[in-house]
Amino acid sequence: MSDRINGRVASRDHARKRHHALGGYPRQPQGEQVSDSTANDSVSVVVCGRCGVSNTATRKFCQECGAGLWENCPTCSTDCPAADSFCGNCGEDLAAAERLLVQESQEQLSAIEEMSRKGELEIAIQKLRALTNEQTHPCLESTRTKAKKLLKQIVAERDHMVQHAADAMERAKELCDRKEYTCAVGTLEEIPKPFRDTHIRSLLVDTRKKTERIQELKNRLRKREGVTELQRLGTIDQLLTLCPRDTRVIRSAVELRERVMKVVHRALRTCQYQTALSLLEAIPSQVVNKAVKKTQIQVTELAYLASELELAPHVTPATIEAGKRLLRFDPGNQRAKRLVEQMIKRHESAKTKSPTQPVPWSPCPEQTSLDAPVDVASMPSRTRFVSLKLEQDFSLHPGRYYTACGLALQGLGATTVGLNLKPGRSRRFTSLYHLMRKKPFRKSWGIAIGDGGIAAVCLALKDDAQVIIECCQFVPH
Ligand SMILES: [Zn+2]
Ligand SMILES: [Zn+2]
Repeated sequence: MSDRINGRVASRDHARKRHHALGGYPRQPQGEQVSDSTANDSVSVVVCGRCGVSNTATRKFCQECGAGLWENCPTCSTDCPAADSFCGNCGEDLAAAERLLVQESQEQLSAIEEMSRKGELEIAIQKLRALTNEQTHPCLESTRTKAKKLLKQIVAERDHMVQHAADAMERAKELCDRKEYTCAVGTLEEIPKPFRDTHIRSLLVDTRKKTERIQELKNRLRKREGVTELQRLGTIDQLLTLCPRDTRVIRSAVELRERVMKVVHRALRTCQYQTALSLLEAIPSQVVNKAVKKTQIQVTELAYLASELELAPHVTPATIEAGKRLLRFDPGNQRAKRLVEQMIKRHESAKTKSPTQPVPWSPCPEQTSLDAPVDVASMPSRTRFVSLKLEQDFSLHPGRYYTACGLALQGLGATTVGLNLKPGRSRRFTSLYHLMRKKPFRKSWGIAIGDGGIAAVCLALKDDAQVIIECCQFVPH
């Protein structure tokens, strides 16, 4: 490039002498030459910068060699004869200005190349487009050609990278579906930063979080001291959900299951059915085997029978049967043995005294396990009835009336938990209704439509705040 310029400058120096001898002067910008210029007459000929032949000023190219006869001043854009050394309009050293222009664009081009090496392809493309479109001076022809070539190359590279990023994203999504998060992170990280769009970036953040969580859980699992088996089961369950194919996780889950089963059998030897059941239920489903399932069924029944024996409100033939069944499964349960004996004794003695009166067994708890007070309706067998006949009817199938009782209690405004299950009524109606009604209801019906039939219960509120069941009816479907 520089050689070419030097060569041209040399030829211009050579041509200048002849040009001056002919009295040629720079003319005005192309298109308005000859006619209105003051130097009009003197610029009737222009000397070719290449071969030195004189041409008429109206020509653009040399009649002898075809070289361009005019050149644009890089500073003021005036057309100067190609052989001139200085611009006739602004006095600029044409050769120096061109050298500077070429040097500047070459520097720009190198900066763009550096940019593309760093992977900033989009910016490089923008700058190259600007370079090829804006810099039109003939002396930049070679730089422009280079820039165009580079532009083509970078655009191709950019398109390739965009495709590569899309492919990597697809692979990463598949890996995430298979819950192979570590591989997914690796795949996404291979995409150069400028090619990570918002979807790629957010997937990367998500999968990174998941891998961190998996590592955290694995570390927690390694901790031996101060961790209960139940907590360890929770950790392994989360791990299995996050990475169900990780063979090491599966192996530790199986190891943990075996350890837990030993703890379960130890708990069963001391009749701690509930402890055993919570451990069994916490075993992740992925590693539940036949032995676990079998034990789970047995322990569920034992826990149910034990709770019947401990918490039944009344001694009935059914509760005694539950106790006996428990003893058949677990003959070593001394407490159950004692309770069953007591139940039988109480039942026998009550049968002789008053056969219709239910035999009380465990006292009603005051609070549920959720801390809510136990409602009178949730234990209807302990409330008062207007007649013995009604109590017998009710106690035969108390479950049928629970919902109706709850609704009737709401009607009385006597529920202990402030939960309203009534469907909303029109506000105008209720406000009017409340204005008219000063006193709370003393009597309320609860009607519940269930799967088996319609249950209706009538409750009455006495002055001592005691709720009495006045009537109950069940109409099967
Ligand atoms: Zn020529
Ligand atoms: Zn100029």
